[in-house]
Amino acid sequence: MNTKKLGLLFPLALFIILMSYLWLTSQTKTFIAEYTVINKSAADLEYNIVQWNYGSVSDGQLSNAIIEFTSNDIPQKTDVINALNTMISEKDYTSVDKCRELVNSTVNEWYSKKTNTLKKYGIIYEVICVVLIILDIVTLIIYIYFNEKEKKDIKRDDDIASCTDALTGLWNRKFIEEKLDIIIKKNDYRGYLFMCDMDKFKTVNDTLGHAAGDEVLQEFAEVCKATLRPGDFVCRYGGDEFVIYIPDLNNDSQVHSVYKRLKGNLSARFKDTPKKIVTISCGATKVINAKSVEELRKEADSALYAVKENGRNNLVIYDRNK
Ligand code: GH3
Ligand code: MG
Repeated sequence: MNTKKLGLLFPLALFIILMSYLWLTSQTKTFIAEYTVINKSAADLEYNIVQWNYGSVSDGQLSNAIIEFTSNDIPQKTDVINALNTMISEKDYTSVDKCRELVNSTVNEWYSKKTNTLKKYGIIYEVICVVLIILDIVTLIIYIYFNEKEKKDIKRDDDIASCTDALTGLWNRKFIEEKLDIIIKKNDYRGYLFMCDMDKFKTVNDTLGHAAGDEVLQEFAEVCKATLRPGDFVCRYGGDEFVIYIPDLNNDSQVHSVYKRLKGNLSARFKDTPKKIVTISCGATKVINAKSVEELRKEADSALYAVKENGRNNLVIYDRNK
């Protein structure tokens, strides 16, 4: 969902509410103005009727007052004119109350018709308001939700990118060191840490080319993923060096068997290709009771150094009792 477009709905809905409110206000203002004019002319007419009844207002003056009153846009205009004119022509001096009633009922009818229309508009306006307010709230919630999610996604992508090796897609040095640090701080020691290094990798680059060297690193990453389990951590530590952390290993013989599998799968991968010269040396150490990541790294490194010293393509496990 496009959160920016969604965010636009919120001010748009507010704008519509404001516009409809202004419209209703103008309708009410017009009504009040009309009502004031009609009320005044009704009062004038009533005054004239009473005066006419006492004989101080002529028929002509009363007729003018009737015309003025009915010139306002009120219903039953002709009925009122006719009725009042009849009374005037018949000189019905006893019908003041009748005249008043006629005028008042005409004004009241007009008034109730107008207010009913406004009420109808008011209800429509209220319904629109409620719908828009609900829409606003829902929009706001959705907007906040997606905005937060987008931020989290960006942060997660950034976090993953900062912990991932660009060439192989494996975890990088930063990730594994932080992971081991947490394990040590939490006293959640388990398993073994491997430090692996490609043998004579410079020769691979020199003989097969740097691009082929890159491929070897990528293919070794795939071999690791295929050989190890999802709960294991494989990381490219830098150059042709890889660190593997396997929490589920309990003893040295299991470590040897993992290395054997890794070595077997790697040579199977490159069998009958120029890359068959590639081999891997590993030093491993127990993670339990390590004091720091640095100590673990040194132990694994010194075991790896021993392998390199003794002809490569092998595994040595660091012995803390030595
Ligand atoms: P050793 O058996 O002692 O480890 O010998 P080595 O030739 O592998 O020596 P070393 O591990 O010290 O050197 C690693 C070489 O890996 C150095 C560098 O040329 C190469 N290398 C490092 N990073 C990359 C990379 O991203 N791609 C390629 N193709 N080569 C790399
Ligand atoms: Mg090497």
